[in-house]
Amino acid sequence: MTEHLYYHDSFLYEFDAEVLDLASPAESRPAVILDRTAFYPTSGGQIFDTGWILPSQTSSKLRVTEVTEREDGQILHVLENAESIHKGVRVHGLIDVDRRRDHMQQHSGQHVLSAAFVRLFNLPTVSFHMGAESCSIDLETNHLTGGQVEAAEVLANDVVMQNRAVSTRFVTREEAQSLGLRKIPPLESDKLRLIDVHDFDLIACGGTHVSATGQIGCILLRKTEKTRQGWRVEFVCGKRAVATARHDYGVLAESGGLLSSHIWDVPQQLRKLQQESRVVRKSGEHLLEELAALYASRLLAETPESGGRKIIIRTLPDRDLTFIKLLAQRLTRQSAGVIALLGTTSEPAALVFAQSPGQQFDMGGLMKEMLARLGGRGGGSKDMAQGGPTRIEGLEPALAELAAQLREHSG
Ligand SMILES: [Zn+2]
Repeated sequence: MTEHLYYHDSFLYEFDAEVLDLASPAESRPAVILDRTAFYPTSGGQIFDTGWILPSQTSSKLRVTEVTEREDGQILHVLENAESIHKGVRVHGLIDVDRRRDHMQQHSGQHVLSAAFVRLFNLPTVSFHMGAESCSIDLETNHLTGGQVEAAEVLANDVVMQNRAVSTRFVTREEAQSLGLRKIPPLESDKLRLIDVHDFDLIACGGTHVSATGQIGCILLRKTEKTRQGWRVEFVCGKRAVATARHDYGVLAESGGLLSSHIWDVPQQLRKLQQESRVVRKSGEHLLEELAALYASRLLAETPESGGRKIIIRTLPDRDLTFIKLLAQRLTRQSAGVIALLGTTSEPAALVFAQSPGQQFDMGGLMKEMLARLGGRGGGSKDMAQGGPTRIEGLEPALAELAAQLREHSG
């Protein structure tokens, strides 16, 4: 079995080892197993290290793209390519230091944060997730308030500022039981690896951690959301917290600039804008209705009656479907015996056919026939139908033809 160097020193970024075996994981990517390694494999919520493996007596520098733990416990170092690697070769391993430091900050920050929620509100953490951008813990609780989140953030950052020592030690399961651990994992192994944040938290964990809480830098809590089992709290630590705050500030500053206001006044300004836009929308709707009513009166006045009916055809190039629908309603409700065949050629083109209640035609059927000719989809009831024609060139003559047919029918 491989010796886990990272169990004893999280700051070991370089090491020498021997290739025990070559293995192909399921995806058939090349991978090696070493007799000892400082590469951390994905486990316990923490994601894997990356880095390089340098076979001795060659100039190759092989990229380690992923590190996983196989079901039998072997650690696989997945390589971009495995040239000049074979069983028995001596290698030098290099860990990607920036990535490892970031993981240590996130993971150690999680220990402190989880302990803060227990100390303050007795809310245990049931799982931890580390993502490429942010991390989260799931708390076992039905209620979580903004005040609790803020209080946990304050306490966690106090512990960071106090720069408490973080130490690692191995104990037996019996010893662990007498030590008052936050939780004991259901592992079958006899030895437990304990992470001790001095006088604040003690828990069994296999991950890589800082050696003093000050190295976490800071802990920033962000989104919280209700999940099926409890509450999820998103957080970022250290340099990620700085990058996240920088990004948030950029977004806020741009929003403030667009509103010509201080960033702290952005919500107030947005509320004002929302209110104003509601008022403008309402007054626009009102004006359109008035316009439709006036236009309907004019069309009814200038259209002569034939056979007891008025057939009104109009194509409006600069109005939309909403307006021609309003107009059709006004025309057919303001007066009995009206048939309105309306169209608009503005993008997207639209047709509305309507008749006053009690008229004999079938607007839905006529619309289907019209669309069979012009292309597009639509339909409706006996008295009102709408459609979206795809060919607008033939729209006006087609409406004129239909009107002629209806007149003939009425005559
Ligand atoms: Zn840990």
